[in-house]
Amino acid sequence: MKINIVGGGPAGMYFAMLMKKQSPRHDIAIYEQNPADATYGWGVVFSDVALSFLKKADEAFYDKFTAGHERCDYMDVVHKGVHVQLRNNHFSRASRIDLLKVLQQECLSLGVKFHFGSRIDDIHTLPEADLIVAADGGNSAVRSQFAEHFKPKFEMRRNKFAWYGTRQLFHPVSLIFRETNDGIFIAHSYQYSKDLSTFLIEISPETWEKTGLDKMTDEESRQYCEKVFAPDLGSNTLMSNRSLWFSANIVSNENWTHQNIVLLGDALRTVHFSLGSGTRMAMQDAIALFESCRTHHSDIPAILDSFVRARKTSSADFQKAAALSLDWYESVEDKMHLDPVSFAYDYMRRTGRVSHEDLKERDPNFIERYEKINK
Ligand SMILES: Cc1cc2nc3c(=O)[nH]c(=O)nc-3n(C[C@H](O)[C@H](O)[C@H](O)COP(=O)(O)OP(=O)(O)OC[C@H]3O[C@@H](n4cnc5c(N)ncnc54)[C@H](O)[C@@H]3O)c2cc1C
Repeated sequence: MKINIVGGGPAGMYFAMLMKKQSPRHDIAIYEQNPADATYGWGVVFSDVALSFLKKADEAFYDKFTAGHERCDYMDVVHKGVHVQLRNNHFSRASRIDLLKVLQQECLSLGVKFHFGSRIDDIHTLPEADLIVAADGGNSAVRSQFAEHFKPKFEMRRNKFAWYGTRQLFHPVSLIFRETNDGIFIAHSYQYSKDLSTFLIEISPETWEKTGLDKMTDEESRQYCEKVFAPDLGSNTLMSNRSLWFSANIVSNENWTHQNIVLLGDALRTVHFSLGSGTRMAMQDAIALFESCRTHHSDIPAILDSFVRARKTSSADFQKAAALSLDWYESVEDKMHLDPVSFAYDYMRRTGRVSHEDLKERDPNFIERYEKINK
């Protein structure tokens, strides 16, 4: 098959890699607007469930992919300055740039053709292909070009985020809640390499305006946040990588395909980073599309139909869980009166996907503490 992929992120590259491994005869080109080594942000996190999909799809690649990952089997919720440990919550962390590099190298070694520095705003400018994969992220230009067919929906959520890095090493995934006179500051932090951690800060729009962060420069804003989280950062600073404040735009599409075009990854649907699963969903999309191609060979309508059937339900379920998680963060003020253990319990149950019994199985000591307080 001849395949054009717009976007060289995890979705597009993982799909290209799986296809080329299955048959080197596939002619696959990836059009990426950025140079080969560009990336935004710091590290990303994968749950053990997320990694199990990758292991099943391609174990040899999985081994390369996870070779440099940082791992920890518990997480910390920090509330009122108290660290509550939650055992048996396994997370694996990697830098986003390393993740992209491993995928790029694998694709290049298999003969995928890359066109870096090629922004595609009109797919008619591309050479003819049997299949066109729009893996061009949350602001997909391909999706915009055919918006009347895909019928995308957008929901701009209220909280503001700034994505920093730091040399303070947060070995467990640590969710830190700090109350100030101007509102609540939340940090989603975790070590993702030998010497760096992600430090993603979340605040309400009211806090953003009240503190004046809405008017500060990148540097002023970095310094302000450093003061708020001084007890957590030790002697380390926050590091900016164009860490401007942004809001989450949640994307979904009524239709996932149009003619021989299919949306993949964030172009198809975004899940909020409070669930840390966007990359996992993007790569699961790639696996599903690859499996549809393997089953239906070059029958494009059958491939697209089976891809949609394979992914629609789990995608919708995931977005529902992510929305509940977002609601929890956006109404965190109502929970701040809780003691640290009850607060951590409430956090763990926020999506409705983890039951009391699940938590008891994962960490009996934690539940014992919770039951003692709430008897
Ligand atoms: C703050 C933050 C934290 C996150 N943390 C996590 C996490 O911990 N775990 C996790 O799993 N996910 C996380 N995510 C989500 C994750 O980054 C995305 O879900 C994932 O990258 C989606 O992969 P993708 O390939 O679909 O899109 P992208 O990674 O966005 O890749 C799309 C690619 O297309 C290119 N492109 C865009 N438009 C064009 C065009 N017109 N022409 C050519 N190329 C184009 C872009 O340059 C980009 O390289 C986070 C996201 C954010 C914002």
